[in-house]
Amino acid sequence: MDFEPDCLHCGTPLEGRQRRTCSARCRKAIQRQAPALRVCRLCGQPFQPTGRGRVTLCPYDDADDFCQGLQDDQEDLQAARLAAREEGQCEGPGCSSPLTYGGRGRPSRFCSPACKTRAYRAEARS
Ligand SMILES: [Zn+2]
Ligand SMILES: [Zn+2]
Ligand SMILES: [Zn+2]
Repeated sequence: MDFEPDCLHCGTPLEGRQRRTCSARCRKAIQRQAPALRVCRLCGQPFQPTGRGRVTLCPYDDADDFCQGLQDDQEDLQAARLAAREEGQCEGPGCSSPLTYGGRGRPSRFCSPACKTRAYRAEARS
């Protein structure tokens, strides 16, 4: 934790062993204001979500090298998946069977239920 010279809530100069806030009341007020921490889906570390929306990753600029690496991998993976989808290939791990699109509804992403299961398992592990 950084040492703050003044109370983060009311601005009263801090003294002695006080950190961040001058009183328990101010500390609680700050906790109420700050959006709850979320846990990064990739690196598992808590982060402070900025802005609104469904953020499930550390903000890239704030992420440490480890998480930035994971986010880069994730992007590569998504790009590869998109490319595969355009070519009509199965997205199952290690499978590149062509997909036959029946022309109705959403085209399927996998050539077989087995590939689907394997892909979801791989996703859950990452
Ligand atoms: Zn205060
Ligand atoms: Zn992260
Ligand atoms: Zn497949």
